[in-house]
This record gives sequence, C-alpha cells and structure tokens, in this order.
Amino acid sequence: MIYFDNAATSFPKPPMVARAMAGTLNKIGGNPGRAGHSLSLCGGRVIQRCREVLAEAFGAKAPEQVIFTSGCTEALNLAIRGMLHQGDQVLCSHGEHNAVMRPLKELEAAGQITVRVLKPNSLGLVTPEAIEEAVTPKTALCVLCHASNVTGVVQPVAKLSGTLKKFGIPLLVDAAQTAGVLPVSLGELGADMIALPGHKGLLGPHGTGVLVLGEGMLPRPLIMGGTGSMSERMRQPEALPDRYESGTPNLPGIAGLLAGARFALHHRAEIEAYEQELSARLRYGLERMRGIRVLGHPGAEKLGVVSFVPAFMDPGELADQLAAAGFALRSGLHCAPSIHQWLGTLHSGACRASVGIYNTEEEVDRLLEAVDRALGQR
Ligand code: PMP
Repeated sequence: MIYFDNAATSFPKPPMVARAMAGTLNKIGGNPGRAGHSLSLCGGRVIQRCREVLAEAFGAKAPEQVIFTSGCTEALNLAIRGMLHQGDQVLCSHGEHNAVMRPLKELEAAGQITVRVLKPNSLGLVTPEAIEEAVTPKTALCVLCHASNVTGVVQPVAKLSGTLKKFGIPLLVDAAQTAGVLPVSLGELGADMIALPGHKGLLGPHGTGVLVLGEGMLPRPLIMGGTGSMSERMRQPEALPDRYESGTPNLPGIAGLLAGARFALHHRAEIEAYEQELSARLRYGLERMRGIRVLGHPGAEKLGVVSFVPAFMDPGELADQLAAAGFALRSGLHCAPSIHQWLGTLHSGACRASVGIYNTEEEVDRLLEAVDRALGQR
C-alpha cells in the first residue's frame, strides 16, 4: 500500500520512534512523577526532555508551558472550553476542523457564547478587514486553523494576529497540519496558544498532542485528578504543568514524540521544501486531467494536502478504486464541513491525497496514473 494519508497521521514514522517507545515499555516501566525510585525518575526525565525540546521549538517561555494531551483535539478543547465565559463572542475561520467547531457550537447551543465565522476573500484567506468588521466588545477569543486539512491553504496568521492584538483579543492557532512542517511558534505567529498533534508533522505516535501556552494564558483545566504533587490538597494544583496533566502520563507516547520531534524539527526546512515539491507535482498533474476539480485557489500558499473532486464519479468510489489499486487516500468531508460548504462540496465531499516525508516523486506519478485510469474507466 502506498500511503497518501499523512494529513490524518504521518506514516511510516522514523525508526527511532518505535525504538524509543519500546525502550520505555521494556526498560523504564515506572510511573513518572509518582515515586522516588529510579524507574519513576527516569520516566520523568524523558517527559521533561520532551517538554524542553517542544518549548524551545514552539517559543514557550518555560518548559512547563508545554502541556501534553491525547492529541490536537484535546488541546483545542482545553483552550476553548477553559478560556471562555458566559456572554463571550468567539471569532473563527471557515476552515476550522470539527475539533474547534463542535466545542464552539456546543457552547453556543447551551447559550453560553456566540460564534462568528470570519468571511474569507476569494483565495480562501481571512483578512484583517474581516476581523475588524466582526470584533465586538464581547470578543474574547479568535481561533484560526493555520492551514486547512482540506485545501492545504495557509492562513496569514502572523498578519492577522497583529490586528487581533490591536483589540487585545487572544489568538488560539490550530497548527494540526503545520507543526513540524512550517515555521510555527508563539512569537512568529503572534499567537497566545498553539494546539498541535504529536502524530502528524512531528512524526510521533498516535495519542499524542500538545497545547503550548503563551504568557498569561491559564485556561481552566478540563480534567482533574492525581498529579503526584501536593497530594495533601483536595484541590487541583495551580502550578504548571500539573494543573492540566492529571493521571498517569502517556510515557511511551511522549518518548516516541520526543524521538519523532527531534528528527522532524532538525529537518523541518528540508521537509517543508520536499513536501511542497511533491504536492505541487501532484496538484499540477491533477489539474491537467479532464473531469477533475482540484480544491484550493491558485495563488494561495499551500502545503502538502491536495483534495480533488471528480466530475462524473463519487469521490468515495474513486478512493475505493484507488485503495484497490494500492493507494491509501481519504475521501469524505475530512471532519471540516464548514470549508466544504464554502467550496460547494458539502454533498460530494472530496478525495484527499496528503504527502509525507517518505513519499517519492515516482509514487506521486503512479498515483496520477491510477487516478487517470480510474477516471478513464467511466
Ligand atoms: N485540526 C485539524 C486542522 C486537523 O486536521 C486535525 C486532524 N485531522 C485535528 C485538528 C485533530 O487532531 P487530532 O487527531 O490529533 O486530535
């Protein structure tokens, strides 16, 4: 099977990821931060090292401002649910994943907040003017998806954060598709919080994610429980990261994330260039085929995600045919109905090919041939 579903999770992972995970299970074993014996201390050191590496990469002031979660979804939920109060208004883009839209819409349905989706320009980009027009005295948060997991279009977050700062509105960036691939940090983006998965561009294992907290950002915790610290107190500790990390940590996952992130961050610029090259080749090849619409407007900056809709075939059927021919792609709405609505593809969905570091030009060409063949059989 040739894997073109890296926007869902990157695969395969560099070999040291599995080695690091097996090492913690086979050799360390103890529960980090819970005891003074060497097996617990050793696990704690692995977690601390990962926090330090990610804090440096994503611009957190201190390692404690890197909060481990089960994925980008949990990181987004923690930031959204933990920051908002009754009566708040929230701004977001049309490109948000359901990991953002569903918590927002749930709070809206409960009468707690109002949600305003910012109108994009013809390239699919949010503009400073759209923000200026939407802001009210009640605006308490703006959530922006750094790059769409459907079109790959990258939002000009650094520019938009300047406008938000003028109004004193905190910015939460969903960097699910960009962390480990594009330059992403609190400083570069002008963000107050960044939610990211460990298992996509950072090349870590499933079930890992991070919320990076900027200065002064102290959302209410989603989950409370044992932290191995201040156990005499019945109330949740205030100190970071314990305020947010209750229960036994995902040591094998975090060890794998440390190994994957070290690799990805070291090679980030090469990875960015390589994935741009592969996806441009794919996009160009698809655009030249008749009877196919490639999503995402020409002229907008994009990353390695290419979605397309065949004119005379259901995208799901095309993905099934490609799977039978040995290619792993994803069809449907990619958990992002709002952007499909904007693109006019809510009913059909699309077929998505997303490239990763282990894909090759030859594999892209073989995929193009297989798409052409599948369309030609119609
Ligand atoms: N946001 C975006 C833009 C995504 O693409 C995804 C993953 N599909 C998520 C959030 C959720 O990430 P996770 O699967 O790590 O919870």
